[in-house]
Amino acid sequence: MIIYKFGGVSVKDAAAIKNISNIIGEAKGPLVVVISAIGQTTNLIEGIIDAHYSGKANVNALFEELKEKHLTLTLDLFDEFPQDLLDKLQSFFTEIETRLSKPFSESFNFEYDQLIAFGELLSTTIVSAYLNHIGQKNKWVDIRKYLDADDKYRDANIIWDSSETKVKQKFKAENNSLYITQGFIASDFKGNTCSLGREGSDYTAAILAYLLNADKMIIWKDVLGVLNADPDYFNNTTKLDLIPYQEAIELSYYGASVIHPKTIKPLQAKQIPLWVKSFIKPEQEGTLITKGDLPQPLLPNFIVKKKQVLISIKPLNFSFIGENDLFFVFSLINKYGVKLNFTQNTAVSFVFCVNHSFRFINDLIDDLKLKYDVEREDGLELITIRHYTPATITEITVGHRILIEQKNKNTAIFLSQGSVQVPVDDDCCLQEKRQ
Ligand code: ASP
Ligand code: MG
Repeated sequence: MIIYKFGGVSVKDAAAIKNISNIIGEAKGPLVVVISAIGQTTNLIEGIIDAHYSGKANVNALFEELKEKHLTLTLDLFDEFPQDLLDKLQSFFTEIETRLSKPFSESFNFEYDQLIAFGELLSTTIVSAYLNHIGQKNKWVDIRKYLDADDKYRDANIIWDSSETKVKQKFKAENNSLYITQGFIASDFKGNTCSLGREGSDYTAAILAYLLNADKMIIWKDVLGVLNADPDYFNNTTKLDLIPYQEAIELSYYGASVIHPKTIKPLQAKQIPLWVKSFIKPEQEGTLITKGDLPQPLLPNFIVKKKQVLISIKPLNFSFIGENDLFFVFSLINKYGVKLNFTQNTAVSFVFCVNHSFRFINDLIDDLKLKYDVEREDGLELITIRHYTPATITEITVGHRILIEQKNKNTAIFLSQGSVQVPVDDDCCLQEKRQ
């Protein structure tokens, strides 16, 4: 069995879907295709959820945009009006409408998950119908019936044992079987939808690869593979040919956005090779993530996280930060579901970074203020260099206000005010390596 994962960009319009149908058509043997919501749909649904939650007037306009987007795509893909498909899409729209006709319950995260899943349900329904229409016979699978998770909405944990039995029964590796299913979603023990965290479709693909003992998994992207820096911020980037599992875990841990952080572990556990390849140039090799010691080529890797908020706390009574303080802070971090991007503690302070978009920053700060002197600084950038060299550190730091720096054998992290983007100079890095 082979697992493919296509993200939102790869299905963003009719041309993109036709392109991936060629890639799927070239695959040999049984295949499971995991697909995300089209284009920016998840953001759009988040907008709808937010508008409904806070009683804004634009809920309907946003909902119309969601419908329009999927109906236009459908009409672009098919020459004739596909009534069957339109009926299916319509029934999803009706479900959404029903949810939006009532106020949200107490649990925002629960309500969020019940709505956010429609992005993937809609996209996979359209792609599956299109593939069937052009003769690529496939089965559409509602993955929520097969992947069990707990009820930690928006960040649910997979229940491996029961999922394994169901997934193995459903996805049979018969000759040329083709399954189309959703990334990012599962259901809890009560049958309610839950999601695995933003950008979680990679993780779904890895879960299925693990449960089905897949021969390989391929994530199809709009870049040639995993690059040593984000091309949005750096001028010169180099594709990495091979990344050992452990290194890939480190890179995603520090925020390399190319792969979802939870994706690698299930693959590593069964030594399933993961390829990251370009859906624009599928004939090119891409990046292979597999067992090994060092990435090839071995270059400094740059990971930039923008819009960071630094929160610093100090005990009000000038005492030291002790285990009790850390326990208290981490229980709040757990309570609010904070994703920590960086932490550091000294004798008298504890500091951490969170994304600017984190919803409960103010509530968290209010709680911390009960026991601590709390400072907040916005608009920061977190830059991590894996396999740093003295020259790359100079490039990143000279002329910038660096608030915090943390270094260990392979990794250097800088928290900087404003933007420190610099071109990656490959020659300089290579020279460093030759020394
Ligand atoms: N559609 C979801 C998101 O945008 C999941 C994914 O794309 O991986 O977060
Ligand atoms: Mg995505």
